[in-house]
Amino acid sequence: MEDCRRMWRIADSVKLYGIENWGNGYFSANRKGHLTVRPKQGDSRSVDIKEVVDSLAERKITAPLVLRFPQLLQDRLRQLNECFRRSIAETNYKGQYLGVFPMKVNQRRFVIEELLKAGRSYSFGLEVGSKSELFAGMALYDNPQALFVCNGFKDDEYIRSALIGTLLGKKVVIVAEKLPEIDRILRIARGLKVVPMIGLRARLYSKGSGRWESSGGERSKFGLNTSEILAAIQLLARRNRLSCLKMLHFHLGSQVTEVKRVQEAIKEAARVYAEIVKLGVKVKYLNIGGGLGVDYDGSKTSSDYSVNYSLEEYANNVVYTIKETCKESNVPEPDIVSESGRAVAAYHSMLITEVHANLNGLVSIAPSLPGRKPTVHALVKEMEQILRSMDLKTYREYYHDALQLRDELFTLFDLGYADLWNRGRGEELFRAICEKASAFSRKSKRIPEEFETLHEGLADTYVCNFSVFQSVPDSWALDHLFPIVPIQRLGENPNVHATIADITCDSDGKIDRFVDLKDIKRVLRLHEPSSQPYYLAVLLLGAYQDIIGDFHNLMGAINEAQILIDDRGDWHLAQLTEGDTVAEALSYVGYDSAALIETYRQQIQASVSKRKIKSRQALMLMKELEDGLAGYTYLKKPR
Ligand code: PLP
Repeated sequence: MEDCRRMWRIADSVKLYGIENWGNGYFSANRKGHLTVRPKQGDSRSVDIKEVVDSLAERKITAPLVLRFPQLLQDRLRQLNECFRRSIAETNYKGQYLGVFPMKVNQRRFVIEELLKAGRSYSFGLEVGSKSELFAGMALYDNPQALFVCNGFKDDEYIRSALIGTLLGKKVVIVAEKLPEIDRILRIARGLKVVPMIGLRARLYSKGSGRWESSGGERSKFGLNTSEILAAIQLLARRNRLSCLKMLHFHLGSQVTEVKRVQEAIKEAARVYAEIVKLGVKVKYLNIGGGLGVDYDGSKTSSDYSVNYSLEEYANNVVYTIKETCKESNVPEPDIVSESGRAVAAYHSMLITEVHANLNGLVSIAPSLPGRKPTVHALVKEMEQILRSMDLKTYREYYHDALQLRDELFTLFDLGYADLWNRGRGEELFRAICEKASAFSRKSKRIPEEFETLHEGLADTYVCNFSVFQSVPDSWALDHLFPIVPIQRLGENPNVHATIADITCDSDGKIDRFVDLKDIKRVLRLHEPSSQPYYLAVLLLGAYQDIIGDFHNLMGAINEAQILIDDRGDWHLAQLTEGDTVAEALSYVGYDSAALIETYRQQIQASVSKRKIKSRQALMLMKELEDGLAGYTYLKKPR
């Protein structure tokens, strides 16, 4: 074991966890064997995540916590814009690129403010899909050059508020999802005396690929089909408002995994655009929606958690396809708008969770029982013999024998012919036999299938202090994969095979699928627990996860810290937001902490009256309950 540890290199961990595959140049490991983050690709500065977590712990800001890196948001936004700019320059494309950030991906005020700030020189705007997003976005967005795209189903209030935005000098485009919205937009605009900019969301035949492909295609719940688009144009012409039609929009669904699908959809949308222009409509913007994916597993394939294209390839394909289609149809090249959310926001945040316990830490049963010497059952003796005799040649046969012996032993227990001690000893021996058989199987040339499953079944379960439902909801709801890496001990061989359980009282609160280059790993290699805290980072959580998370078991929002890296490479805490207290979590479901405290007081008083507790004790208990209500909802580890 010692030798094995000495042989292990930090580079082995980088490879094992695939950090360079999915890390996109942002994540790495330093000489201390700690996970690090760079503020931008190719930067020599980096921040040591373990150092950040330890330093926050000293300030009583403990895990679980989210670390956010605003510089990663800025860098992703810069890369997106620069890629489009380069493609536009290289192909001599006549239009410009005007990106917008879809607020649904992460509405946090800090995220939106950072993006608008970083996007100022690129005229980078916002996309909203609901009234709440509209009201938040309108206040934060103040760039008259950038677009403000209003999507989603709309009532009159939504339309009116968006048009007030136009009156306030914002470049608002209201995208009609349904035909009747157009007349409502025109009517409300007339009342407000504004000229609206209208977009049409097209329902393309082309579909995306991957988990969200049903957001596109002819069965999609969104958008107008061809006859509805024509009807919309006729309607606008009848109302003498054809000049208000400024944008053609479509959205293929998030995380489009194949570049071929992007090309097909762009081609189709560009053809629709060209035909509309040929009808005499001056559509200025072609909005290609979201869908630009993130390579979560680092495989660069069309797996659901990856993408088989780069950002550059995406931008080149979009620009080139639109240019060629416009040339063929002899129409002007439109400004290109994209609503890329995931690709911009995913990298900037990670969850830090601490391992609290190993559920499968084996308890060796006592050789004797209180007051009685156990009589070892014949079947148990046979299992002991198997454990001693197994070798590389015989392990399969012995494993099968052990399976049978275990079943027989359990039957005899049910019938009263074997006692609890023998049942316990049998369980213990059976697990030891399985582990030995699994180890032998790994030495054979080809691992028999049953031993693959056996190996997974033997994995330990590391209980981590977080809620999957709150912090990694897509892992539970969609089986989405996110990279998970220990933030320390990367220079040591991780020789425990484990899955992860959260602390909710729900068997779905677990992670047992992990990223891999070729496959999906069913177990993650982690380190043996020691007396030191052991933290895991769940990465690339900045898109959707912050917002979709729920309050299952009232676990509540977790601590958050924003980290900035300065010119010298030192890190600073830019902002700290404490997670929910128990009282706050309870208030979301109608409990008032003052009323709760009063009830506890009465209950304690009643116990004092019945002499169950003393008055001095009563004060102490009351204080403990009050402190508990004011404390963090997550576990405190006994140290
Ligand atoms: N635009 C629209 C209309 C969407 O519905 C979505 C999300 O599904 C997006 C943009 C963002 O997509 P992505 O995060 O894949 O870029």
